[in-house]
Amino acid sequence: MDAANQPDEHKTPDDRLKMTELERIRHSCAHVLATAILRLWPDAQFAAGPPVENGFYYDVELSHRISPEDFPKIEEEMKKEIKANHPFEKIVVAREQAVKDAQSGRLGALRERSVPSRYKLGNLADIPAGEQITYYQNGDFIDLCAGPHVMRTGNIGAFKLTHVASAYYKGDERNPQLQRIYGTAFKNKTQFDEYFKMLEEAKRRDHRKIGAEMGLFVLDAEYVGPGLPLWLPKGTVLVEELEKLAKETEFAAGYVRVKTPHLAKEKMYKTSGHLPYYAESMFPAMELHEETLGQGLEQMMKEADDAAANVIYEEARRHLPNLDSSQENDSTAFIAWWRNALKQVPESVRAKLMTSAELLLFGALNKGSRPEPDRYYLKAMNCPHHHRIFAAEPRSYRDLPLRLAEYGCCYRYEQSGELIGLMRVRSLNMNDAHIYCTPEQFAAEFNAVNEMYLKYFKIFGIEKYVMRFSTHDPSKLGQKFVNEPALWKQTEDMVRQVLKDSKINYVEAPNEAAFYGPKIDVQVWSVIGREFTLATNQVDFSQPRNFNLTYRDRDNTDKTPLCIHRAPLGTHERFIGFLIEHYAGNFPLWLAPEQVRVLTIGDDDALVNYAKDIVQELRANMVRAEGDYGTDKINGKIQRAEEAKVHTMLVIGPRDMQAGAVSVRVHGKGNVGAKPKAEVLADILAAIRERRA
Ligand SMILES: [Zn+2]
Ligand SMILES: [Zn+2]
Repeated sequence: MDAANQPDEHKTPDDRLKMTELERIRHSCAHVLATAILRLWPDAQFAAGPPVENGFYYDVELSHRISPEDFPKIEEEMKKEIKANHPFEKIVVAREQAVKDAQSGRLGALRERSVPSRYKLGNLADIPAGEQITYYQNGDFIDLCAGPHVMRTGNIGAFKLTHVASAYYKGDERNPQLQRIYGTAFKNKTQFDEYFKMLEEAKRRDHRKIGAEMGLFVLDAEYVGPGLPLWLPKGTVLVEELEKLAKETEFAAGYVRVKTPHLAKEKMYKTSGHLPYYAESMFPAMELHEETLGQGLEQMMKEADDAAANVIYEEARRHLPNLDSSQENDSTAFIAWWRNALKQVPESVRAKLMTSAELLLFGALNKGSRPEPDRYYLKAMNCPHHHRIFAAEPRSYRDLPLRLAEYGCCYRYEQSGELIGLMRVRSLNMNDAHIYCTPEQFAAEFNAVNEMYLKYFKIFGIEKYVMRFSTHDPSKLGQKFVNEPALWKQTEDMVRQVLKDSKINYVEAPNEAAFYGPKIDVQVWSVIGREFTLATNQVDFSQPRNFNLTYRDRDNTDKTPLCIHRAPLGTHERFIGFLIEHYAGNFPLWLAPEQVRVLTIGDDDALVNYAKDIVQELRANMVRAEGDYGTDKINGKIQRAEEAKVHTMLVIGPRDMQAGAVSVRVHGKGNVGAKPKAEVLADILAAIRERRA
């Protein structure tokens, strides 16, 4: 989460200094909201009022239940306060004074009141000793606040209250429940209008809505489980086209593909550090008990139905108490007895008894005690599996860089309340790869990864993006960041240099690196201006060491490689969610679930056969083509195809057939004219091959 988006109580003075102008406007608007509410309901008790993503809120305790019907009159009061253009005055106070003011109800208030400002008293207690305590005052309203604010209330350009929710004081359910009033504010009316227009458009393009209309995916919470999307045939087309793109791009960039299971033993995640630190985001463990002695015998009985086997079983049973103990003599005696007994039974029965069940039995006997259950976890990351592939063979410097790629399926236990369509899910298919390289190779590899991002942006028409380069804070080495000052400096310098040299649009975010190395988060904007965090690109000098990964260098010594984690297309789930909004479901030809539909004008046999041949030829070239040959009018057929967002419609009438031509319509563009059939088909194939926009 962005530091700027954290609730007030978690903000350090450093975070506050970083508040942008827009955040100051929004936070100032929260004070104006409180001022207005107090004019209407003087008893209101305020808690925290920070800026958040896209706006602000203020938490308030009030006997009146505020609803959107109250918004106009609250907004009326807010306008008065803005019009008054009161300055936001900063007042530094001693802690004793602040406590006194809170007790007299003066904080988060227009005047002293008969009851204390109880939540402000609580907030005051959270301010560490030695930190400066400040008020901000606009007009009569005084609030306990560390700022910063805009200069005057009149600097708030355009605002609106948006909704009400409820929230516990300090997010703790043991505390009282408050009303959380949300609003947003902008520097001016133009930006305000643009934002709400974008929201409207985003609603129209909502991936859940379009996904259902187009039949791309379903979320079946009842049978499959929440956050576990099922890809329908048309959605699977998107998944597979993206995977094909990744395969081709990675192949050309020298990657090799691997395939790994969806789960692994506990030891794997303890080594990687996911356990215990990441345990909350993982599905709970599955415990596998090896079959016990008794179960082995039961199994044997099922497989041997002869009376002789029964005798052996009964005999084995009698030995069981001894077998369960760890006395090797007894086990050895039993095995000897068992082997002898086997000789007595007929051949057919013996074969049945020599089963895996018997092996298990002897396995357990030889151990003399029952094994501990094995714990398996669904993988939350592909990295550890790839590390084990690196470790599977001896590596030399000549093998590096080794680029292991996999569209790996991971599982994360997200809170059910936080699941959103495809955007936040519990099963995710990641465009993953891990590049193992030497420090000398690092810059070129990292640059190549960035180039790959840019190549993808071009294909998808993503024009606005920013790479957020997150670095470590030296004062937090050994706590928030792995304690390797030299490696931090070395890798951060290398990354910074690559970013500078490639003239990529980036910003630096100190103190936000991953635990094991610097990272780049890639934020992109959809065509309507909504921001998505799609992918990360991370440097890791910690995990390769945890897994004891080494390569034999030129000088014949073993060294630890650096590892780059990268996923330019993020996960199928999030990326397709983004693409649905970005294209509003009107996918380019190469991606469109149904690429071509051939529509006949009428259902004359010769015409239908001509159309069917075209469909056949397209399908033989792996083009997703369908036909609509019914008797209904051509306009109806076109409308159906347009509604289904079919990319290209080939309309065929008798005259087209005679001329060996087809009339082409493109979804959303209309008729683009008739052309010879061969030319049209060649053009379709070229557009798909080139992945034209
Ligand atoms: Zn404030
Ligand atoms: Zn990874």
